[in-house]
Amino acid sequence: MKLLHASLCLISLLLILPSIFAASSSEDFDFFYFVQQWPGSYCDTQRSCCFPTSGKPAADFGIHGLWPNYKDGTYPSNCDNTKPFDSSSISDLISSMQKSWPTLACPSGSGETFWEHEWEKHGTCSESVIDQYEYFQTALNLKQRTDLLGALTKAGINPDGKSYSIESIRDSIKESTGFTPWIQCNTDESGNSQLYQVYLCVARSGTGFIECPVFPRGKCGEEINFPSF
Ligand code: 5GP
Ligand code: 5GP
Repeated sequence: MKLLHASLCLISLLLILPSIFAASSSEDFDFFYFVQQWPGSYCDTQRSCCFPTSGKPAADFGIHGLWPNYKDGTYPSNCDNTKPFDSSSISDLISSMQKSWPTLACPSGSGETFWEHEWEKHGTCSESVIDQYEYFQTALNLKQRTDLLGALTKAGINPDGKSYSIESIRDSIKESTGFTPWIQCNTDESGNSQLYQVYLCVARSGTGFIECPVFPRGKCGEEINFPSF
């Protein structure tokens, strides 16, 4: 009888254990989207934009965010409100962030509000792998390792307000980074579809790019504008 009781206890424990682990890893994720935005396309919409207090950003793609994602296309958000954004812990990264992760929202700001939003919504969901310092450092490293504008201009695709095939845009970025990007469009004031954001996928560890397990939804036209900035 005792033996039966002991085995029943063991079996129940074995049944319960996986759900305990599942609960503690509920903030886990499969990969990141590393998202960069073209400032010209953020600014020429109906909503317009404001330059950051540090001045007009370079005419280059800027970081929007590093977003943990699940391979079924869903994603976690706002995972830990006990870890607020702490700019003093990333003080040596701030000048690089001003250059590579500029804010274009109105009213003009230093960028802190944008970085705080990205950390709280997305960064806190990657804490099983990287802490706050590493989150921002990882994004900056990934930016340094991709030259989207260089890839495009090398293929004759320039921010000159002309239109280019989405295929040529995708191919030139694939050629340069080795990985297939996902292109997100928005529309300018006249309603033209234009190159807004470029998504690349990053391994869970944050160490390098991977082919995307899943692409976001949405569609651009076959030909899209590349506005100046
Ligand atoms: P939108 O609807 O403008 O594409 O996205 C609005 C916001 O939702 C994004 O800035 C981002 O914070 C979040 N978001 C949209 N799509 C994804 C996605 O596929 N993965 C993750 N992690 N966040 C997303
Ligand atoms: P997400 O779309 O990532 O959830 O939210 C972006 C938030 O950051 C919005 O509240 C938006 O107003 C703010 N934000 C500040 N600066 C920028 C910027 O340069 N680009 C984008 N896309 N959002 C910005």
